[in-house]
Amino acid sequence: MAAKIIDGKKIATDIIKQLSSETKKFIVKPNIITIKIGDDPTSDLYLKLRDNACKKININSEHKVYSADVSEEQVLKAIKDFNQDKNIHGILIQFPIPSHISQKKLIDSISPIKDVEGLTPQNMGRILTGDEDIIPCTPLAVLNILKHEKTTLKGKNVLIINHSTLVGKPLSILMLNRNASVSVCHVYTEDLKSYTSKAEIIISAAGVPNLIRPEHVNRSSFIIDVGIIKTDSGVRGDVDFQQVKDLVNKITPVPGGVGPVTVACSLKNMVKTYKKNMDMI
Ligand code: NAD
Repeated sequence: MAAKIIDGKKIATDIIKQLSSETKKFIVKPNIITIKIGDDPTSDLYLKLRDNACKKININSEHKVYSADVSEEQVLKAIKDFNQDKNIHGILIQFPIPSHISQKKLIDSISPIKDVEGLTPQNMGRILTGDEDIIPCTPLAVLNILKHEKTTLKGKNVLIINHSTLVGKPLSILMLNRNASVSVCHVYTEDLKSYTSKAEIIISAAGVPNLIRPEHVNRSSFIIDVGIIKTDSGVRGDVDFQQVKDLVNKITPVPGGVGPVTVACSLKNMVKTYKKNMDMI
């Protein structure tokens, strides 16, 4: 039997519809600011995608753009001002940023209640203590996909292939919070197959094409492909989709899987920071 191919666009549309019914009741329009430093062309693409998504649910998306030679102090000062500005309900930083500016310092300076991406130490710490609040968008997208598929995590063997702060670290704790048995693999893992063979759910976010092949899956596997790799023939993920899709239970495609749900979850977090700033939650 062919695998169920998860329609990420449909899941995203449902999330956006639900958010839209909420935001249309807001008297004050949510206002989110994105800080962009330098002129990385992919950043412009992401900004445009985010702006279009914001328009759909009546969120105002502003940009604060700096040239690549801006000082760290200047950006930190701007974040401090945005933290205090009652008309700004959420702050995002568009990565990558130039290497003379500390990514960590910028993130750490964002007010936790304006932290749309859930990356501040306070929001990350709340995941660790089981008091989850604003969850980083990609891990939140994975949780939403699993929820949509009514997949329970309790007692399941979950394998996460990624140990970054953005994806693997928070996701592994989120899975533990839901009582899954979690393994985390990364670039230094030897014998990936010994981990994939035990996993019922594989979440791959390595950014390595064909990392997950037929020998890594079985009939009951649920494969969530977070990887995004740009190739001459378009965007693809970590999974050898053509070879694997008929050998598993469920699989997310790239494009059209985790990506759109991540964008929808970014909107979800914007609505959450808005409500926090308006004392609605
Ligand atoms: P990153 O470079 O910080 O992390 C990559 C992770 O993959 C690391 O843990 C690394 O150890 C691991 N890895 C690399 N090569 C490996 C290998 N051969 N075997 C096992 N593990 C390996 O990147 P990131 O920001 O965490 O993003 C990871 C991927 O997810 C990228 O392709 C990125 O584009 C994608 N991504 C997708 C979304 C989405 O919405 N779909 C969102 C964020 C990131």
